[in-house]
Amino acid sequence: MVLATVRYILSERARTHWRSRYGVIVACPCRLWARNQLKITRLKTAVVEGNFDWTFVRIETDEGIQGLGECFFAPGLTSILRSLEPLLMGEDPRDVHRLFRKLQLATSGAGSVAGIIYNAISGIEAAVWDVFGQSLGVPIYRLLGGKFRDQVRIYADCHGGEALESLDEVLRSRPPSWIRQKARHRRKDYYAPTEGEPPASPKAYRARALAMKAQGYSALKFDLDVPGTEGFDAHNRCLSNRAIDHMVNLIGAVRDAVGNEIDLAADCHWRYSASDVIKVAHALEPFRLLWLEDPVPPESVEALRAVASRVKVPIATGENLFLFEGFREILETHAVGVATPDLQKVGGLSIARQIAEFADGQTIPIAPHNISSPIGTLTSAQFCAAIPNFLLLEFHASEVPFWNDLVEGIPQPIIQKGRICLPDKPGLGVRLNEKVARKYARKGEPFFE
Ligand code: MG
Repeated sequence: MVLATVRYILSERARTHWRSRYGVIVACPCRLWARNQLKITRLKTAVVEGNFDWTFVRIETDEGIQGLGECFFAPGLTSILRSLEPLLMGEDPRDVHRLFRKLQLATSGAGSVAGIIYNAISGIEAAVWDVFGQSLGVPIYRLLGGKFRDQVRIYADCHGGEALESLDEVLRSRPPSWIRQKARHRRKDYYAPTEGEPPASPKAYRARALAMKAQGYSALKFDLDVPGTEGFDAHNRCLSNRAIDHMVNLIGAVRDAVGNEIDLAADCHWRYSASDVIKVAHALEPFRLLWLEDPVPPESVEALRAVASRVKVPIATGENLFLFEGFREILETHAVGVATPDLQKVGGLSIARQIAEFADGQTIPIAPHNISSPIGTLTSAQFCAAIPNFLLLEFHASEVPFWNDLVEGIPQPIIQKGRICLPDKPGLGVRLNEKVARKYARKGEPFFE
């Protein structure tokens, strides 16, 4: 009992606890007690069924500090995360860059330069930043060099104007408990042809845009690759004039509804040929888009450059790319006008910062892709605050009823008037509400066990 009490008094958990209540009065003496070592003791995972599989990784330490990160969903992801645990045991989580390199080298055969290994590493890296910040009593953005802004501007992804879907790890529609019965199973899978009347209509786009504007968002994004825009053949990437006209009607309805003061982006999800998406960009010019996203498949830099060099709208891409090397060529050749790395996938905060700094040198802004729970979203917000060339951060879950409830320790709702006020608490600055997370946990997956 005595030993346990002494151990608690000397622990990081106690220092963080008392520092948060009595500030520097106890912070300074506590620091004298600080150990030179902090060790990782466990890595645990949990998956929550949001509109995607929100995959969490928790890093635990011998001092009682726990860090939380989120990974972009992928088949078999929690198995990969657990395979990486032995590499982290006993390591100091504050050696963020060294641990990244260790994980990267250990998975170089399986992951090499890209792939879902980096989804796992991104979540782990975010979790150790969280531990690091808590151990020093400072927010993550301080560790990244400080902040350029107190608030992070958010854009609402409005999908195809329809009711929200929930997709599993291979993009099949599924019926989680929180989706109303009548909205379920519109499509068998994301890429399947539509049966019956296409749900995407100018009227639906207009209504969705007005609803999100009323919530205070000053930037919106809509999908262009919606049912009714497949052209004559669903597989050849080509578009008919009728399909292009439908896109113009959809975006035109939104612009007409919200006016020119709202920023408006459009997403193609890498579906089209360069020659035909150039026609789309020209047809959409009157609507003054903020960006046109992923017009062509992400693996072809030449196709991307061909589009970017022949249209007036800025081209955005990046959510499929990994590491700095994945971005270098498109940035230095200006094949992209807005870079959209996904921080739950790209390799982590340090990699994203490297990308942002290089992009800044090319005068290219950063608008991170984000389909996360509040954990991943707030991790991204810490990054967005710490880079000069931040443009917008995505929010993809406005219809998930428990999105805000998943975290504690931050004013609710998390997004107010289209912005996130950055928490000033140590590390990530919020705690996961495990009661809520457990309620919506994916069956068959461990829940921090
Ligand atoms: Mg996209």
